[in-house]
Amino acid sequence: MNLRIGNGIDVHKLSPGEDFLLGGIKIKSSIGILAHSDGDILIHALVDSILGALSLGDIGTHFPSDDLELKDANSTTFLNFSLKKMEKMGYRILNTDLTIILQSPSVKKYNHEIRCNLSKILNIGLDQISLKATTTDKLGFIGQKEGIGVLATTLLICDGN
Ligand code: ZN
Repeated sequence: MNLRIGNGIDVHKLSPGEDFLLGGIKIKSSIGILAHSDGDILIHALVDSILGALSLGDIGTHFPSDDLELKDANSTTFLNFSLKKMEKMGYRILNTDLTIILQSPSVKKYNHEIRCNLSKILNIGLDQISLKATTTDKLGFIGQKEGIGVLATTLLICDGN
């Protein structure tokens, strides 16, 4: 199997006074992401898409949210873990497409910075990382600014045989 595709989805509650991290970049906002770890939802969905492509379960399989040692854990650790698994199986990322679903704040101005940071961590080009953001047109819990969601789709390729 030369190509493998995976998807990831994550949803978190928004809460005042919490940090707001997306792809390792701090977003300036009065509300932040409530989570057991550092709450970097973009990285969580990305990790799930990589693990999904490899058929290795999901982020919760490897990093349970009731693990006290993972309190406020740096999500980049989860990402590096999944990248190591991927490399061990002989795969690399061909491209990833990430969609943030969020009513507010607007994260548009952080797009380039987030992609640059992910490009460094993933060791792939900016042209292999797509980052989009959409709202729910004020509908539902995301529209009411109670939560945030991220969808990730990642395609892996194995160059050898
Ligand atoms: Zn999460």
